[in-house]
Amino acid sequence: MMIEQNPEFFMRKAIALSRENVKQGGGPFAAIIVKDGKVIAEASNSVTRDNDPTAHAEINAIRQACRELNTYDLSGCSIFTTCEPCPMCLGAIYWARLDRIYYGNNKTDAAEIGFDDAFIYQELNIPLNERIISMVNLLPEEAGEAFRDWELKEDKVTY
Ligand SMILES: [Zn+2]
Repeated sequence: MMIEQNPEFFMRKAIALSRENVKQGGGPFAAIIVKDGKVIAEASNSVTRDNDPTAHAEINAIRQACRELNTYDLSGCSIFTTCEPCPMCLGAIYWARLDRIYYGNNKTDAAEIGFDDAFIYQELNIPLNERIISMVNLLPEEAGEAFRDWELKEDKVTY
């Protein structure tokens, strides 16, 4: 696992990007993905610009890095994010298998300026039927057909 020689350099770059994004009317978040000391992707939050609630800086950067490297696996990469990732981005970072997360602000800092994701973390500990957004289990037998298809498929690309 490679450790960046000068992590402050990349974090400062991400911070500059986040400040620029505020000037442009976006949220105060940016993220940079680095591999072998090289910037692979850099992105800021574009939720309001793109009308996309999933367009957090980390998600945008992961999509860009995967396109750039033509892979769904970002092993060997680090992400520099100006704020501790929310549950969605943290999940995406794990799915993308990044090696390391550098973060600037923490989630308490974010909550203090109105970006509170603590309720999502809390939801994870609550039974499905007691959550804010109701979850209804429907047609599990029929849905399971695709799982059985997958299990039987011999030439599948596992990930
Ligand atoms: Zn996020």
